[in-house]
Amino acid sequence: MLMDHTIVTLDEMRKKTKQMADTDELCSQHGGKYVEAFCDDHDAICCIECITENHRQCKMVRTLEQASLDIKTRLDPLVYRMNELEKQAVSVVEDRKTNMEDLLKQKKDVLTEVNKTRTDMQRYFETLETKLKEEIAQTHESLSEELQLQAHNFEHIFTNCRKRVLTASVNYGSNRDIFLTAFKLRKQCELYKIYIRSQSENSLRNDYSLHMNEIIKKFTNQIKSMGNVSIEQKSTNIVPSFYKYTRLSDCKYVGQILV
Ligand SMILES: [Zn+2]
Ligand SMILES: [Zn+2]
Repeated sequence: MLMDHTIVTLDEMRKKTKQMADTDELCSQHGGKYVEAFCDDHDAICCIECITENHRQCKMVRTLEQASLDIKTRLDPLVYRMNELEKQAVSVVEDRKTNMEDLLKQKKDVLTEVNKTRTDMQRYFETLETKLKEEIAQTHESLSEELQLQAHNFEHIFTNCRKRVLTASVNYGSNRDIFLTAFKLRKQCELYKIYIRSQSENSLRNDYSLHMNEIIKKFTNQIKSMGNVSIEQKSTNIVPSFYKYTRLSDCKYVGQILV
């Protein structure tokens, strides 16, 4: 009964073609043809060409007039669905905005952290540099003191090795005086000779040689980056699971919807 009532024949459709108004919908498949019917089997609106090509075997094809009877009383589910979708879309937009705001704050924190790391490293290197320079200064000071002391000791020998004392004694003293002076000078010379011999091992040539820490020398070669930032992704409940787990085959239209 129902089927007889609802099925529209191609002839009936052809008769109605001329009654189309300007506001009618054009068929997306057939340029210039107006949508005139609705196929329940395919849940699709169709023009006369569509019916000929794709809906000949369909059990429930109605004219738009038939399909739209009492439409105003059947809109509630659609309105409900649209409201739900709107709420859903709004909450996703809000969530994306919140996420963007959070990311902006996090980016600031991350950059601060990068700066802090650089400053800490710089300070650490400055501390090491200061320490090394202090050690060099200290080494230089004590070595200089040592060399000065050695020079001083030998200067002492040089100034005390008074040949003039002997000359004066020879010119003005008695043989006894000369003998005693010569004796004292000879003993003094022996002592100085022993001293010089003992110091010969200590009279070394000194040169500085800098040995930088191997790791620091290779630092620029081995360390190619300060680090990196990665994105951690966690699932949210913004989009309810019944949307998420929609069959993949339904997703082929997603691109078209968004265009
Ligand atoms: Zn068509
Ligand atoms: Zn059909």
